[in-house]
Amino acid sequence: MDIKRWWAMFFAALLTVAAAICALNIVVDPFGVFGDSFFDWYAFNMTKNPKAAKISYLNANYENYNAYIIGPSGSSSFLPEKLNEYTGLNWYNTFNYGADMAYTTQLARYIADNFEAEQFLLILPYISAAQYDMPPKDATEWYSPYISGGFSSWFKFLFANPRYSISKIRDYNINGYLQENFDVFIPQSGVYDKSSRDVEPIGALSDYAPFENDKFSPQSLVEMENCMKDVKALKALCDEKGIELTIIVPPSPRMRLDEFSKEDIAEFYSRLSEIADFYDYANFVPDEPRFYYDESHFRNNVGNMVLADIFADDSIYIYKEGDDPDSLLAVLLYHHITTDGAGDSVSVADFKEDMGKIHESGYTPVSLKDIENYVYRGAALPQKSVLIRFDDGYTSNYELAYPILKEFGYKAAIFAIGVSVGKDTYKDSAEPITPHFSFEQAKEMIDSGFIEVQSHTYDMHQVERLDGDDCRKGVLQKDNENEADYIEILRADFARSRYELEEGTGHEVFALAYPYGLHNKLSDVVLSQMGVRITFTTEPGINTIVKGLPQSLFNLKICEVSGLF
Ligand SMILES: [Zn+2]
Repeated sequence: MDIKRWWAMFFAALLTVAAAICALNIVVDPFGVFGDSFFDWYAFNMTKNPKAAKISYLNANYENYNAYIIGPSGSSSFLPEKLNEYTGLNWYNTFNYGADMAYTTQLARYIADNFEAEQFLLILPYISAAQYDMPPKDATEWYSPYISGGFSSWFKFLFANPRYSISKIRDYNINGYLQENFDVFIPQSGVYDKSSRDVEPIGALSDYAPFENDKFSPQSLVEMENCMKDVKALKALCDEKGIELTIIVPPSPRMRLDEFSKEDIAEFYSRLSEIADFYDYANFVPDEPRFYYDESHFRNNVGNMVLADIFADDSIYIYKEGDDPDSLLAVLLYHHITTDGAGDSVSVADFKEDMGKIHESGYTPVSLKDIENYVYRGAALPQKSVLIRFDDGYTSNYELAYPILKEFGYKAAIFAIGVSVGKDTYKDSAEPITPHFSFEQAKEMIDSGFIEVQSHTYDMHQVERLDGDDCRKGVLQKDNENEADYIEILRADFARSRYELEEGTGHEVFALAYPYGLHNKLSDVVLSQMGVRITFTTEPGINTIVKGLPQSLFNLKICEVSGLF
């Protein structure tokens, strides 16, 4: 082969590879810059590069929004749906990884020039004055070509390392319902998807490691000048365009705040106050890990509290300095009650004795509504609280336990299996079962004010002996069932349980006891998305419930009378 032909073949091969990389990056579009019309998977694109993907998303959807949250990742816990409720506008959260006022200001200018914006909410932590105009470390931090402009910025994305595209194809094929580390965004609002993190059980403070300061070295606010120059430019931009600008200094753990010198912080506030009014929530929540996802990200619950405080919404609990944040809660579990205690049942005499012990040891039985009001609204709860729980909904609860509870003046919660209400045979069979109370009896108990009747699922409390080999294990997914079908079945089951109980008793259903105590992350997420606010397992333990953290009402544990704290 002569040298000329060799070169021609070499260049042809090179061109083919280059064209293949371009085609891959355009079609798979791992950063969403080209509009991602093939995969349409912005949750992935934003996770890989929120700066680039959010701009492309907004270019296609800006008509749905007229107000924008701007700032670093801590801004994620300010939820657009809350701001929509308070302001009547349509908010989008444009936050990006890392705090960089240089980028934030460019982004704000792009939005102001290209979209309709009535309001900006700038989230400005101290760290914004510690770093400025950081060079992108790799493709995941490249600016959108729409912001940086010029052919070269498009060129970069066209020839980006193909590994990003390859990982998108791989992850697309394993992507399930739950949020994973490759799809952490909700494209429609721009925030992190916290559906899994927000059903994590919350317990006693002693279960948590204190914040550790290993990631961040002490910082000084060396970029104060640049930061404040850009805040000023942003204010001028808003004034010029008639956009209302609100600024919040967001909550941070004390450990993080202590990294900065007092002089720096004082200067931060004095310079900021010369430019614009602002809200200071830096020291807002208790200085403890339960209110944070990690050292630098406060929970959505905390963002909700800040907004409720700003917009004077007194329907949710808002932390006040000095508040005692948590309370212990014991849960006792009963099923069938009989006069003689036959089989697995508890005898009337033993039940009465237990109720006597509750009284003697200074406990107060509380209702589901009581604990909900404590957590959601900060209402008072007795020092020693116990929740008396009955599972399955047996007629004996109505005939034998209910009169005793009334005698003691005790509240209790009964979790009824929907398909068994009013039945003494199993489902459609003639198989006799322990009788279950009717809707009329349930309504009578609830109306007395002593009893709440809630869900133990409609028909996910199956029994192998009666349902056969294909019997479901509590609410769990069957081995032969795909995830999407399973989610539909779980949703339909709870919806039916809730509908029939609410129709039959006239009272809201908002709590569920898992049959056999079986549950997993997926069932927790699906049920919480359906509006279930309290769930119970059969795991042993004493619960710690926390004001302002509704997830502390998920997966409550049970104890014996002898184990009351
Ligand atoms: Zn049960």
